[in-house]
Amino acid sequence: MMDEILLRPHHALCIRFFEGKGYSSEFTKHMAGVIEKLHKPGQCVALVDKEDEICKKCPNHLEDGCSQKRKVQRYDGNVIDMTGLSYGERIDFGKLQDLMESRIMAVGRFRDLCGDCGWASICHKKQEE
Ligand code: SF4
Repeated sequence: MMDEILLRPHHALCIRFFEGKGYSSEFTKHMAGVIEKLHKPGQCVALVDKEDEICKKCPNHLEDGCSQKRKVQRYDGNVIDMTGLSYGERIDFGKLQDLMESRIMAVGRFRDLCGDCGWASICHKKQEE
């Protein structure tokens, strides 16, 4: 059985819009590798409210956690509220993506979720294309 991958809920959106850009080249390379694993059929994730697999190589990941803690915790909380999922829940990554589409993207809640993120110009622009 494949090991589950720890994932901050809002990272499901960062993954959806990822286009090879990130906080550093090491981060970007690592993120691409994590995304590849996540797309393997049957791959499960466990939703966490702390540093996850993607954070591991992030330059914002400091000893006491993420330097953007306040903001990312708000984004994670928004995803939890909008999808009805819970922290600690295990879910197939494909199913998580479907839920993000139906409960967030399709009903126009994306901008409310993370509009003040530094990367929003990429993701929100793509969404409007
Ligand atoms: S900014 Fe914070 S939440 Fe985002 S990848 Fe880096 S450590 Fe993780």
